[in-house]
Amino acid sequence: MYDNSCIFCKIAQKKAPASTIYEDDDVMAFLDINPLTRGHTLIIPKKHYKDIFDTPPELLAKIHKTTQQTATAVQKATNADGISIFQQNGAAAGQEIFHIHVHVVPRHEGQKLGRFGNTHANRQELDQTAAEIKRQLTQ
Ligand code: AMP
Ligand code: ZN
Repeated sequence: MYDNSCIFCKIAQKKAPASTIYEDDDVMAFLDINPLTRGHTLIIPKKHYKDIFDTPPELLAKIHKTTQQTATAVQKATNADGISIFQQNGAAAGQEIFHIHVHVVPRHEGQKLGRFGNTHANRQELDQTAAEIKRQLTQ
């Protein structure tokens, strides 16, 4: 249920920093530290499951319900023209962190996506963006 070597388990347990948008007993939404675009958010279950294949279906439903709510707030906060949602399973699919997570990426007309891991946002920027998204979540 908790993997000591997993960064997302550490975030879920508050043992590593995160710019959090939402959390409850089961799930958490926080900003990606290498955002593809401003507002790039990740949704995770708090318990450690590797990928779509070993996550219980009820929890997967909860993760995606939270993804919908988060995407709505992200869209409003960033004024995005579109939102890409993706979730990678297995190294061959580009998964680097083996704790299931859904990416919510704001998209703007004509803006191309860069490569994963090419950007790095500082904590202050991430906290500021998280606060803007959080405000939309409560409205
Ligand atoms: P994936 O390639 O689908 O496994 O995505 C992993 C994502 O986790 C990447 O977009 C990373 O930028 C992101 N990431 C890695 N470490 C952290 C962290 N400590 N806080 C927030 N996001 C992270
Ligand atoms: Zn984990």
